[in-house]
Amino acid sequence: MNQRPILRRCIACRKLLDRKQLLKVTRDHQNGVVLEGGMGRSAYLCPSEACLEESYRRKRLQKALRCQIPATVVEMLQKRLNQSIDAVAEAR
Ligand SMILES: [Zn+2]
Repeated sequence: MNQRPILRRCIACRKLLDRKQLLKVTRDHQNGVVLEGGMGRSAYLCPSEACLEESYRRKRLQKALRCQIPATVVEMLQKRLNQSIDAVAEAR
């Protein structure tokens, strides 16, 4: 199957990337702000320390999702980030 990558824009650096490479944060109708899955308005972020930092500092997630971002979600993003950095390191 010839699947074309679905491109999404990072809310911090504005780069277009394959959706699979990005961290997705969704404001779910029922569950509030969730990482991956969920239905509703979503924002994408590169798995990079700089972009997470930038989005946090400039409240990019809050603005993109138009709501407050719980600290737990930021922590989860940080954790995901560390995991993906490890995965890249292992692949090398
Ligand atoms: Zn980015």
